[in-house]
Amino acid sequence: MGDKKNNNNNNTNNNVENNVDNINNNTNADNDFSPNVVTGETCPICGKKTLTLTEAERDIPFFGKVYLFSMNCSNPECKYSVSDVESEEVKEPSEYSLDVSKEDHLNARVIKSSNATVKVGRIMTITPGTASQGYISNIEGVLKRTQHALEMAYDMEDDNSNKKKLKNKIKKLRKVLYGNEPITITISDPTGNSAIIHEDVVKKTLKKSKK
Ligand SMILES: [Zn+2]
Repeated sequence: MGDKKNNNNNNTNNNVENNVDNINNNTNADNDFSPNVVTGETCPICGKKTLTLTEAERDIPFFGKVYLFSMNCSNPECKYSVSDVESEEVKEPSEYSLDVSKEDHLNARVIKSSNATVKVGRIMTITPGTASQGYISNIEGVLKRTQHALEMAYDMEDDNSNKKKLKNKIKKLRKVLYGNEPITITISDPTGNSAIIHEDVVKKTLKKSKK
């Protein structure tokens, strides 16, 4: 990446449409969109002009238009990275739950904002916070992200019994990804910006916490 500034407004819409059509067959769904990109911006963390801003929008069937934002710093000493999604339409606080038990469920579209809590069975709960990222993916993508997080934790863990527990979780996730074991994935989001889209999903409206 250089200092060049790109504004690919004209190309973006067509590419986004193509990518949405392909998403169900694409295991790399997390990156499957063509965004507007601006490079060479000033990073809020390290102050260098190494920040790339990305913005894209997608129409998600049965959900509506979603905006995706991300900031990535290419300075290797910084690596600042955030991303989030926001629904165009204001939605109710909701919880979506899917019992993943057949291959088709792995392709269910997932919209996850940084405010969402994601429960991957009893294996892992991803909570909102400063490190929380928003993304559009599918169930397979969520499982792979979880697997990756567990593998990193495994590599950093020194305690043998903890290592063993992590290894068992990774094994279980692998079985789920190969369709050999069911798992329930639940995403709840007080901002309503998250969802799982599939006919087998159970959706609940959460009580509003705002006063
Ligand atoms: Zn930086």
